[in-house]
Amino acid sequence: MIPENRRRFLGAVLGGARRAPGGAGRMRPPVTRSRPAPEARDTPDSVPDTRDAGDPMVLDVIEANLGAGLPEGMALLTVIPVRQDDGSPAFRLRGVCCCGDATDFPEVYGRPRLELGSLVSGDGELPADVLSLMQMWSRTKTWLIRWLDRRLAAHGDRLQLVIWDDTGYRIPWELFWLENNSGRYEGWLGGIVTTTRWLSIRTSWPEAVRDYRSAHTCTGPVATYIDGAMDHDLSLLSGYQVEPSGSMYELTKALRTDGDALALVYVAAHGEFGEQVSECTLGSLPLMHVDPMRFLRLKPSATFVFLNACHSGSLGYDTKWINDRVLRGFAEVFLRSGAAGVLATNGGVGDRLAHEMAGELLRRLRDTPGLSVAQAVRDLRAEAASLAPVDLAAVTGTAANKKLLTLLYRFMYVCYGSPRTQVLPDTAKGAR
Ligand SMILES: [Zn+2]
Repeated sequence: MIPENRRRFLGAVLGGARRAPGGAGRMRPPVTRSRPAPEARDTPDSVPDTRDAGDPMVLDVIEANLGAGLPEGMALLTVIPVRQDDGSPAFRLRGVCCCGDATDFPEVYGRPRLELGSLVSGDGELPADVLSLMQMWSRTKTWLIRWLDRRLAAHGDRLQLVIWDDTGYRIPWELFWLENNSGRYEGWLGGIVTTTRWLSIRTSWPEAVRDYRSAHTCTGPVATYIDGAMDHDLSLLSGYQVEPSGSMYELTKALRTDGDALALVYVAAHGEFGEQVSECTLGSLPLMHVDPMRFLRLKPSATFVFLNACHSGSLGYDTKWINDRVLRGFAEVFLRSGAAGVLATNGGVGDRLAHEMAGELLRRLRDTPGLSVAQAVRDLRAEAASLAPVDLAAVTGTAANKKLLTLLYRFMYVCYGSPRTQVLPDTAKGAR
């Protein structure tokens, strides 16, 4: 397909996303558009220098006894930012499992440019090409493939994987292509394994942060902010007790006040992601204003947070003003306040799919007692993967590529926190 066709295709299928409309005051270009040339963008200042043994953020992830207390079936993969010999940004991996298998992978990999926010956008690549890129990139991570294979052999479908990624490279791990010699567990990681993310959280009050290893159960009403243009999402919550807010600011104000336990915080709004994370917005509220907030309402008991907006789960380092090597993003603010999990996105999702995703997720959680949010998200990804063409080389033309978009959108949803967190909101009086 020629580039002009591709542009038109992307323009046609990516309309109606949960990002701020063009020309909005706080709108920032997608991450690729504001990037400098490749030569300039990998300057030593753009990533944390992990050769500095005094860097506490890195010590969190390297020196912590990561295997301690992992429950049966849980494995932890840490993604550690490092530099290659020539100074360019890279990462290495370390895996630990409940059964004691701890591995420092000897390979160092260069920073990939596989951010879904850039790849799946108006300036991005064809869906079949995005997926092929992910397969090409995954294929050479031989240590990881074999380690994951051993985890699946030991724990099967019950495997829960927490990916602690401190790189800020925005790698779409859920789209890691899992190769398998027998073919049994072959496919996209996030559709095969219950997967969540974690990150180092810099806080004076670490005791407020909820443990990613524990099984949390979130009960109580649902606090919401739903943008007027997305008020069809209101119907998804009609069976529950809801505490609505009229703006993102009002919601954050309500969450900063002490109060009874909440099961869920649900946000449906536009989101924006900029080159510097301090340029991000959610529901037109800048991350700059949200970052310093502490949500006391999340303190008394476990609460799950669903930020159903574009780029709501993206994390990055601010190198323009702050330069403190701390990962920032909306998901981090909620986890720092004690959220037992955050479901958010790593790119621009279409409004229709965002609505469907929330509806399907809430239905599954309601109908399947004991199902964790992360398991439900895995199942929803698996469903999308099963409906998409497997033979990417055979995908040509707009219609075939459009089918793959559903898959890409589903895999853009990323869970943070414990893979065992369950959500059981209070039902509305008279409901059911
Ligand atoms: Zn194990």
